[in-house]
Amino acid sequence: MKRAMVRVLTLAMAAVLGACGGDAQGGDWLATDDGDFVLEYLEPENADHQPVYEALVESEFYDGVVATLNEQFALPQDIAIAFQDCGEVNAFYSPDDVAIAMCYELIAYYADMFYDEDEADYTQTVINAAYFTFFHELGHALVDQLELPIVSREEDAVDAFAAVLLLWQGEEEAAIAGIDQFSLDAEEEAELEELPYWDEHSLSEQRFYNMVCLVYGSDPDWYAEWVSEDFLPESRAEGCEAEFAQADESWSALLTPYLK
Ligand SMILES: [Zn+2]
Repeated sequence: MKRAMVRVLTLAMAAVLGACGGDAQGGDWLATDDGDFVLEYLEPENADHQPVYEALVESEFYDGVVATLNEQFALPQDIAIAFQDCGEVNAFYSPDDVAIAMCYELIAYYADMFYDEDEADYTQTVINAAYFTFFHELGHALVDQLELPIVSREEDAVDAFAAVLLLWQGEEEAAIAGIDQFSLDAEEEAELEELPYWDEHSLSEQRFYNMVCLVYGSDPDWYAEWVSEDFLPESRAEGCEAEFAQADESWSALLTPYLK
């Protein structure tokens, strides 16, 4: 919320001041910009994905997001972002291909789950169904391409990256859509005979609480009603402002050298 907006301005100013200082002193701390995010929408072969494909292409929403990212980030080389059929409900970053795959299967899955024709616009539902995951995968891509140090599990770190970046951009609704997705995933996971403790991701239920905590922590007054035994227990809520501040400051420190 307000904190997040302030952070965007602070970063923008830091980037401007950094660029001026760098030029004046011949400094080289600002990364060189040798690449862009390159977006494409691959035509789906699976006819079930046609509505999602059309909603994405016609809205041009991600074209705008990617244009903004290209204005913000200096990259060492191009990073491909493809909306595509994958044959599985997934989204992933491939370091070998330097490419993010946003699978129509995943977007259709969440869009179908969350679409309420009486309340929501289908295109907006499709956009929200992909937005949190898009930033999560973007986090993986930047960790790889910018060789960012990550001292805990990368999956947890890029969940925090997604929350922080969305809040910086004033997109708290998309962060909340991510919370809804983890809630849904947690319900599905609860049906499993054995929980995947071995997985590189935290359990969906934990990812849910981590996201709730970060969004709440970005503005505890605004989200005060979230604190309750069945949503965000008081014992966790107490530390969330500090958790958000740590994630916010850590990602700022990591990304500032690459902001144009
Ligand atoms: Zn991941």
